[in-house]
Amino acid sequence: MTSTSVARGAGQASVADTVARLRASYETGRTKPLAWRLAQLKALGALLTENGPALEQALWADLHKAPAEAQYSEIGFTLSELNSVQKHLRRWLRPTRVAAPAALLPATAKTVLEPLGVVAVIAPWNYPVQLTLAPAIGALAAGNAVVLKPSELAPATARVLAELVPRYLDPSAVVVVEGGVPETTELLAQRLDHIFYTGNGAVGRIVLEAAAKNLTTVTLELGGKSPTYVDDTVDLDAAAARIAWGRFLNAGQTCIAPDYVLATAAVQRKLGPLVAKWIERYFGADPQRSPDFGRVINDRHFSRLTGLLGAGTVVTGGQTDASERYLAPTVLADVPRDAPVMREEIFGPILPFVTVDGLDDAIRYINANDKPLALYVFSEDARTRRRFLTETSSGAIGFGIPLGHIGVHGLPFGGVGPSGSGAYHGRRSLEVFSHEKAVLTKPLKPDTIQLIAPPYTPARERLI
Ligand code: NAD
Repeated sequence: MTSTSVARGAGQASVADTVARLRASYETGRTKPLAWRLAQLKALGALLTENGPALEQALWADLHKAPAEAQYSEIGFTLSELNSVQKHLRRWLRPTRVAAPAALLPATAKTVLEPLGVVAVIAPWNYPVQLTLAPAIGALAAGNAVVLKPSELAPATARVLAELVPRYLDPSAVVVVEGGVPETTELLAQRLDHIFYTGNGAVGRIVLEAAAKNLTTVTLELGGKSPTYVDDTVDLDAAAARIAWGRFLNAGQTCIAPDYVLATAAVQRKLGPLVAKWIERYFGADPQRSPDFGRVINDRHFSRLTGLLGAGTVVTGGQTDASERYLAPTVLADVPRDAPVMREEIFGPILPFVTVDGLDDAIRYINANDKPLALYVFSEDARTRRRFLTETSSGAIGFGIPLGHIGVHGLPFGGVGPSGSGAYHGRRSLEVFSHEKAVLTKPLKPDTIQLIAPPYTPARERLI
């Protein structure tokens, strides 16, 4: 399916009219009270808890995502974010007092969070519930009017969201715009107060260019190749279990999945069969028959991915079935650094191993490439861990665990440089959709400003 084959939602108003309607609604002030925000969050919770089966079915239709996985990585995940924000919102919205400098006293200084206005959340297809609704939590908590633009490449989920959102949330301030590139282009042409975009970097550039016209602020949640380093100080079987889980969850279509493994030839020789063993443990001898192994999202990605096979030696996998866009969980060892599979984000069920001489070589390789969204290190050596922490840059670093950082509300979730800018989750979700306004209050008397106002007599200069 191509993006252009997805029609605008039935009866959908023009995007320009929708944004204008939301702006008129925002300007009445209805989204600002805490009561409205909490009511929207509660309604979002109800949407998620009362429609589990419909959402699970849509995720199965779009991605062959197992219901249990849909719960923990999409529905339950979003509910957990929601609970955290609901619990703390009142406190997070309290003004923050800051000290005023002596020269300005008497005075009080504080910051307050205010909503940005009409914001857009543009989401991708790989976790289509989570990546549409988790940013929406922040947008609503902050008191904005919101346009949600789910991905047209997960059409069943986009449809369910378009049906459910108006039933649960305030339709005058929260709208789902269905559609693909034309609708998103039209959305980006509107004056918006913030754009929260999750997806690939090529579209990220389009979003930034569109935002520049109105000086709209942007959060970019992008992707890229997230490296995984494994050395011989770890329990390789335990490392293999986690790497296989992180890589092959959602058929490898996870932005923070381990994209490739850097290891010496000796470590690769032991690690390869162990990863293969864990793949079999998770998905059986024939993963095509496993209800727990996903499918590639569309034909374009399927042919892109099969074109990346053929490098290095196959440790396991490699089987394909185009009729259902099945690509077996595949591990390739000894992959050359210039192989096609190493030149782009894989975003599918392929795990290449690239040979390094050791730690220095691995760090050099990582630093020679784009700053990743995540970096994973499997080493028990404290010095090795410290060197990765201090000598490389990435959105996040996981020691001994891929993906896990996404579930920690207190950790910022986002990239750096080509893997993204800005971060959300927990309190940051509120902050990302708010403006932190500086407030200074100084009584008119005593008029201490006279101490520094002209004329600058010698006595005054001494004071200044
Ligand atoms: P996608 O194709 O669904 O695109 C994302 C959104 O951009 C969609 O809503 C789509 O309608 C819109 N879009 C696509 N082309 C456009 C255009 N030309 N003009 C305007 N809008 C356009 O998703 P994708 O980009 O294939 O998603 C996968 C990428 O997203 C990977 O690189 C992955 O790493 C990254 N990702 C990042 C995160 C994160 O949180 N950092 C999460 C998931 C995915």
